[in-house]
Amino acid sequence: MSFLAGTGQISRVLENGQIDHFESPMVQIDRNSDLLFDLFRLKDIHMPILGAAVLSNSTQKVNVQPNQYPVLFLGEIPTFIKRQIKNHTVIESNQAKKIAEILVEEHQPFNPFPICNRWNVDTAFLKKGVFCTKCSACMMKRRFRTWVCEACFHRDPYAHIQAIKEWFMLIGGEITNKKCREFLDVQSYQLVYRVLKEMNLRVEGTGKKTKYKMVFRE
Ligand SMILES: [Zn+2]
Repeated sequence: MSFLAGTGQISRVLENGQIDHFESPMVQIDRNSDLLFDLFRLKDIHMPILGAAVLSNSTQKVNVQPNQYPVLFLGEIPTFIKRQIKNHTVIESNQAKKIAEILVEEHQPFNPFPICNRWNVDTAFLKKGVFCTKCSACMMKRRFRTWVCEACFHRDPYAHIQAIKEWFMLIGGEITNKKCREFLDVQSYQLVYRVLKEMNLRVEGTGKKTKYKMVFRE
C-alpha cells in the first residue's frame, strides 16, 4: 500500500498484481477531525485532536508512508496513546466522563451498505456461492438438504442465510429468485423460494416477479 502524495489517494497492490486506488485515510482523518472539532466547539469543549490511521490487517505492508498522520497497526494503539499522555496535559476524569457522555449521546449507527456501491467495487468480481460457515476458506455445495464444505466437509443446513445477508450488504436493493440462484450458485427455484421465504424479508409482488428486501437500520 502506498500513500500518493498530493492526490488524496492511496494505491493498493494485491498479491495477484491488481492495482486499485482509494481515497486516502489521511483525507478521512482530516474530515473526521474537522467534524469532531466542530462538535467539541458546539459543546464548549476545548482540547487538541490528534489523528492516526490504524491498519486492522497486520500483514499489510506500507511502502510509502504519509507525512500528515502516523500509520499504526492495531497493537500499537496503547503505546501511541501512552506517548501522547507524556506530551499533553491530562484532563480531569469528570471532563473525560462528560466527553464520553456527549459521544454516546451524539452517536448514530453507521450504515455503510451496500458496500460495493460505497467503495466502487464491480459486483462482477464477487465470488459466487456459499462460503463455508466454519473454515471460510472454501465454497459449500448443496447436498441432500444441507450445505457441505468442499474442503473441511463441515455441514450446515442454514449456511445460505449468511450468504444472502452478505448479498444485501454487498450489492443491496431487491433480490429476486433468479439473482439469488445466481449468487448462491444453485439451480433450484424451489430451494431459493423456500430459503428467501424463511428469512422474513420485506416482500413485494408475487410469483416469479417477487422481490425481497432486507432493511438495515439507518
Ligand atoms: Zn469448510
